[in-house]
Amino acid sequence: MEQILYELNEEQRRAVQTIDGPLLILAGAGTGKTKTITTRLAYLIDLGVDPASILTLTFTNKAAKEMRDRAFALIGDHLPSQPLLCTFHKFGLLFLRRYIHKLGRDRNFVIIDTDDKKRIIKSFKTDLPLSVVATEISRYKNSLISPEEAVASAKLENFKEISRLYLEYQNYLSENNLVDFDDLLILTYRILEGDPDIALSVSREYNFIMVDEYQDTNDIQNRLLMKLCSSHDNICVVGDDDQSIYGWRGANINNILYFHEHFSNAKIIRLEKNYRSTRKILEAANRLIEHNRNRLGKHLEAVREEGADIEVLASRDEQEEAARIAEKIGRLIDRGEDPAKIAVLFRINALSRSIEEALTKARIPFQLVGAIRFYERAEIKDIISYLRIISNPRDEFSLKRVINRPKRGVGKVTYERLHSLALHEGIGIMELLLKLPEEEIVRVVGRKSGRSLKGFAYAIDLLHQKSLQGDLENFIDEFERLIGLREYYSHLPDGMERVLNIDEFYGLFRDHMREQRGSTLEEFLAEISLQSDQDQLDGKRVSIMSVHASKGLEFKHLFVIGMEEGFFPLTGDGCDIEEERRLGYVAITRAMDRLTLSYVRKRFYRGRRSSLEKSRFLGEAGLCKGSIKIERKSLFKKGDLVKHKLFGIGRVIGISRAGKEFKLSINFGGTVREILASFVERI
Ligand code: ATP
Ligand code: MG
Repeated sequence: MEQILYELNEEQRRAVQTIDGPLLILAGAGTGKTKTITTRLAYLIDLGVDPASILTLTFTNKAAKEMRDRAFALIGDHLPSQPLLCTFHKFGLLFLRRYIHKLGRDRNFVIIDTDDKKRIIKSFKTDLPLSVVATEISRYKNSLISPEEAVASAKLENFKEISRLYLEYQNYLSENNLVDFDDLLILTYRILEGDPDIALSVSREYNFIMVDEYQDTNDIQNRLLMKLCSSHDNICVVGDDDQSIYGWRGANINNILYFHEHFSNAKIIRLEKNYRSTRKILEAANRLIEHNRNRLGKHLEAVREEGADIEVLASRDEQEEAARIAEKIGRLIDRGEDPAKIAVLFRINALSRSIEEALTKARIPFQLVGAIRFYERAEIKDIISYLRIISNPRDEFSLKRVINRPKRGVGKVTYERLHSLALHEGIGIMELLLKLPEEEIVRVVGRKSGRSLKGFAYAIDLLHQKSLQGDLENFIDEFERLIGLREYYSHLPDGMERVLNIDEFYGLFRDHMREQRGSTLEEFLAEISLQSDQDQLDGKRVSIMSVHASKGLEFKHLFVIGMEEGFFPLTGDGCDIEEERRLGYVAITRAMDRLTLSYVRKRFYRGRRSSLEKSRFLGEAGLCKGSIKIERKSLFKKGDLVKHKLFGIGRVIGISRAGKEFKLSINFGGTVREILASFVERI
């Protein structure tokens, strides 16, 4: 036992050994929060707690895997059972596979991604921007507002349209037995809420619950946790209010602030020693975050040495910036530094291109985390769609994507004909194609299409049967033989790279089936749909990624580019300066030894080259003289009527300071939104 606790300081030990009742570990960046709950997991198992009764929730699969490895390094991996370590979404998935029938749905549902979601919405014909509709639907769902309620309460034209789309979208999902990312949590919560017996029995299964990065949980996640604590209150959460960076996605900082109200008799332990960064880096981070009003306030001291000065790099434009950073990285690698310990961060994705080019030119191996992901490439989505239909022949969303790939002469009109015929018969299209004799199909869609569609249906059915038989190691070869997707792509003009990707995917599939014997097609599909940005890190190359994707990670050498007003902090519509500052804090605290913050005087963006001012964050962190004007008094007062470009007219019901600006709470026809004063005008 001593061995397990050996590396920890006093407060960390106390946190590990406090195992009864609710516990909040509240601490700044790099204080060993993740290390503490990993050790706590090992400690519980060492005490004799059944590993399977411990649930640890994290934000990425990679984090979950790393925590498992570290815990096992402390106690060995010969355990009587396995602890469950996963993301909230994965937990939802496992739960729904067991209980979704309680909502009258089938357990072989398919998970769709954001891109799929937008395609579905697009098929309902709307002039509103798809991403806005997708976000609003998500907002309704996460507020537990049903489509019917949304339709009934919508007053403004835009919201009437959005609520109509929401209704159509939900119907589409249940008709095709699809589940989107939000559903993984929301449906889980609905089942737990509607059936206290299930809540109780699941809660008894997991006697100990731990959550990392708690500051980024949203309402649903918190409610879920409360349900999981129906039979006990052994919940330990760790978080840092200064690192809450998902407000725009619904994360609710109140979960931390009111933890003691949600879970009564909660103990709080603070960790105050930062083991990650040199003193100079930590001081800059602390100075920056002190400019936020809305924070709990924490004491954070450096354990490490003073370290080197933080470098502030000023360049003429993005090309010079990228070239200089590439040169610096090149020098580090020449000196023997491990590329995996180096990272370049940016606030918005558009800034990555110049760095990518410069690193490519300098022949430095790198990986762009969170760019178009492998699984989102067209050819890979085709295979995934096929596998989804094979797994669930009712999935007509996937069917629509690939029914004509390879070409089978099925255009929009033919598809619609098949669709209405199937509807008329009260069955799915796949079932229809299988059931009807070939002559019948030929009569509906013509000779050529009819024949190939019949062949297609047979092939899918054969593969479906095969997928149920267990051993799937050779499945993908059989798949290619019957469907010929690789073959199809190899004849296209831009096919070469696509074929390479397909080969890679087939390889992945074989590996998965070999490594996890007995794994089903469904499990494979679920696993790849729950991949997140950080899961792509392979540990041999320099990482380039957004600040959001860098959460929880640490790098010996860190470069942050684009430290300019308008880029970091981002200052457009709906931006929250305090959240921007927290992002700045997250960025700086990823650095262990050396930190370079870089800005340019001119940057090419959205087709224009514009002059820029260096970021106010550099001044606030004490790294150079401040540059931005401070607004002292708000131009607005409570009761003012204001107009916003997107949300229309509303009334100011509250004013608060947001760093050096003002944030208004505005009531737009019943919906209250927080908006920076500079984004509305008084009327
Ligand atoms: P973040 O807020 O970024 O998620 P964190 O609080 O989770 O950070 P960890 O990632 O757990 O912090 O730890 C930061 C670094 O400090 C790691 O390299 C870890 O190994 C080291 N560390 C933590 N606690 C100790 C300790 N007691 N002694 C030595 N090193 C420690
Ligand atoms: Mg952490």
